[in-house]
Amino acid sequence: MFEKILIANRGEIALRIQRACREMGIKTVVVHSEADREAKYVKLADESVCIGPAPSAKSYLHVPAIIAAAEVTDAQAIHPGYGFLSENADFAERVEESGFVFIGPRPDTIRQMGDKVAAKNAMIAAGVPCVPGSDGALPEDGEEIIRTAQRIGYPVIIKAAGGGGGRGMRVVHTEAALLNAVDMTRTEAGAAFGNPTVYMEKYLQLPRHIEIQVLADEYGNAIYLGERDCSMQRRHQKIIEEAPAPGITDEERQRIGEACAEACRRIGYRGAGTFEFLYENGEFYFIEMNTRVQVEHPVTEMITGIDIVQEQIRIAAGEKLRYTQDDVKLSGHAIECRINAEDPFTFVPSPGKIDGYHPAGGPGIRIDSHIYQGYTVPPNYDSMVGKVIAYGDTRDQALARMRIALSEMAISGIKTNIPLHQELLLDSAFIRGGTSIHYLEERLAQKKEH
Ligand code: ADP
Repeated sequence: MFEKILIANRGEIALRIQRACREMGIKTVVVHSEADREAKYVKLADESVCIGPAPSAKSYLHVPAIIAAAEVTDAQAIHPGYGFLSENADFAERVEESGFVFIGPRPDTIRQMGDKVAAKNAMIAAGVPCVPGSDGALPEDGEEIIRTAQRIGYPVIIKAAGGGGGRGMRVVHTEAALLNAVDMTRTEAGAAFGNPTVYMEKYLQLPRHIEIQVLADEYGNAIYLGERDCSMQRRHQKIIEEAPAPGITDEERQRIGEACAEACRRIGYRGAGTFEFLYENGEFYFIEMNTRVQVEHPVTEMITGIDIVQEQIRIAAGEKLRYTQDDVKLSGHAIECRINAEDPFTFVPSPGKIDGYHPAGGPGIRIDSHIYQGYTVPPNYDSMVGKVIAYGDTRDQALARMRIALSEMAISGIKTNIPLHQELLLDSAFIRGGTSIHYLEERLAQKKEH
């Protein structure tokens, strides 16, 4: 096992990785920007290295500074967390070339899954169900594009192969608008992602977002840890996630889970990963694979008892998976609310000093957050400041515990989206379960009208 790991991230996930390391007896090196100097996990680290000023481009995305920090501290491995460099194949390659272990998949896997056309082709070959669409990248020939859309049926969505973060997509409802939309998406994709390749998919109208968590080792063993429902989204950003997904049967879970595990074996996947699907009318449609730990991983940990971050570290150290599929037993229900420093209804970011903080507690409540009273939320990064996770024997119990937790939680000095969560936890459609990915936006739009 490693003796020392460098954590190339910040905020709650830096703390989460640090906790996993400390539990395993591994020393931690935390790299941080000047803006994060006062963070508690920086102080709790065995070593910390300031890698630059507040802007991410000069610190958390600055590869030479991170590699140099690993060199001077003699770290053996680098955990990238999520966001920042976590899905950057060139970074993973640099880490390995510099003699460190990258805690994640092989660089070529990251590259393949980062190109959505390549990822989709690999999934089709592995037997994972995908959204009906073009046969790979769209050609130049307009007539052929029109024929493709006719075959798929309108509405269709044009997507950039290099897209991410919900950008580089355009929905097309009529043939008249098609070629112009393809051109515009191409131009935007070229400018934003350096890759003008686009492809076409059937646009699903009322899908849910359901994703499968997997773990795979270097020796061809792969398992799935059930699914998560992350349909409660605004601008493609998830805000509530839960596991298991309401209404998904054991048979459905097993069928799609086995397909994902088999795909991992086929592509030689290594580490933790997530297969994201849209789910509509009882069918799963693959949209993309995330080759890293996800924000919402705790809900899966709560219902499986498996520590996903520790398993990532064990796999990176070359250990064999400690679990077989039969060892994975789902029990109870878990819900996560992402706490963002923002106005709960206008969504304007609200960085600043937290002058009062009272976290929630009690049975089944887990809080993953780096904030404390007196902490200043810097304006430079993502607005998420933590996650409240509620576990219960049943979904109703998890919901009840979450409502209590949020009513106890007090954060002053900055605004947070807790009031929005409190409304959603009383929303009858959410309580029933199974709302689509458009539900939150529609609800917010209606609220605005009133
Ligand atoms: P990104 O990498 O930018 O997150 P995804 O492929 O995961 O891109 O798609 C992001 C979101 O766009 C999905 O969660 C969904 O809301 C919407 N979307 C993508 N493809 C489709 C589709 N074929 N039909 C309907 N919605 C889609």
